[in-house]
Amino acid sequence: MVRYYCPYCNPKYQFQKHSSKGNLICGLCGEDLVKKPFIRLNQIIALVAASSLLLPLIYAFIFLIKNQLNPNKNYQANSSLMIVIKDPI
Ligand SMILES: [Zn+2]
Repeated sequence: MVRYYCPYCNPKYQFQKHSSKGNLICGLCGEDLVKKPFIRLNQIIALVAASSLLLPLIYAFIFLIKNQLNPNKNYQANSSLMIVIKDPI
């Protein structure tokens, strides 16, 4: 269902009227009503901004829990890697 709204009036007090030509007008100011899109551009931008802040946090949190569950895969404490670094000296 396509919803219409008046861009100038308070959305709480809006009511629709049919003009003499047959198109919908605002009952308060008489301005032509504008179609309300299903997804607005502002919502998409807000979703991208919010996800760019939250997704790395969630990603880091998942890896934190994974490392807590199996601490054997701690590569910094791997002794074979220490030998490779020491060899050229
Ligand atoms: Zn209006």
